[in-house]
Amino acid sequence: MTRFQKALAIVAAVLAPLHASAQSFPSHPITLVVPFAPGGPTDRVARDLAESLRKPLGGATVVVDNAAGAGGAVGAAKVAHAAADGYTLLLHHIGMATMPGLVRKLPFSVEKDFAYLGIVNDVPMTLIGRPTLPASNFKELVAWIGQNKGHINLGNAGVGSASHLCGMLLQQALGTEMTAVPYKGTGPAMTDLMGGQIDLMCDQTTSTTAHIEAKKVKVFGVTSPTRLATPALREVPTLQEAGLKNFQVSIFHGLYAPKGTPPAVLDRLHTALEAALRDPDFIQREQALGAVVAQDGRTQPEGHRQFVAAEIARWTPLIKGAGVYAD
Ligand code: ASP
Repeated sequence: MTRFQKALAIVAAVLAPLHASAQSFPSHPITLVVPFAPGGPTDRVARDLAESLRKPLGGATVVVDNAAGAGGAVGAAKVAHAAADGYTLLLHHIGMATMPGLVRKLPFSVEKDFAYLGIVNDVPMTLIGRPTLPASNFKELVAWIGQNKGHINLGNAGVGSASHLCGMLLQQALGTEMTAVPYKGTGPAMTDLMGGQIDLMCDQTTSTTAHIEAKKVKVFGVTSPTRLATPALREVPTLQEAGLKNFQVSIFHGLYAPKGTPPAVLDRLHTALEAALRDPDFIQREQALGAVVAQDGRTQPEGHRQFVAAEIARWTPLIKGAGVYAD
């Protein structure tokens, strides 16, 4: 054997197991990490997505793991530091773009520690209140806020979360301060809102629609630029319409793997994601909850990466300008 042939044989021996593992992938269940508590909107999207990924992944089970804490940073760190074999994935939302501005010491890099698999959907938020709140529309709510300064509790899913971001923008727009009450996700916060332990919260329509319909919470506005077509939310004004100029928040969810995952495994996961995004059941389930399944260039890994980078560039100065940080 020449030196060159020997070198080739070594390279082939090193690559063989990688190739074999990519071909047989997945051979056991995949864990989909949700960085928030069960029962909230990210959890809801993850469970729907897990169901729709099963078929394109050859029947593999996708198990949802709620690794909640620190506004979504705990779950993201778990995936950033997991084995890069495709068996641990992350479903995260706009927090991937807001955490770099909001959290001073993130235990991972959004830009360097993840392989981007594609954007899943876009979801507006709703401003909701406890059922006993003595206001039935946004105008009355503003008056009530004015009369109760210093006594209003605003729930959120921790610093860096979507509810935190929306709540921060709301306080800024109204020029008032409320007491933030952090939870490990808006699932448990919703229980307290319905029970009257907290007064207000922003949350994605994927979680709030059913509770609004059942009149378990009051709704004061949606954060989308136009009213939503979803029957349960059709009558709800946009917050802009209600008087908050330029108030728009749209929450995107995206799928990530740890950086260093073999390209063939990433390919397999991305192809499965594309199939899930075309699944009529998934599209319909999301639509009924006010969400829109992504169908554009952001569903591609590079489109997803560029979109998150642009969102980081958009949100960081706004967040820093508002002077809100966490360590
Ligand atoms: N909606 C939450 C947030 O505010 C997270 C969740 O529980 O899904 O970020």
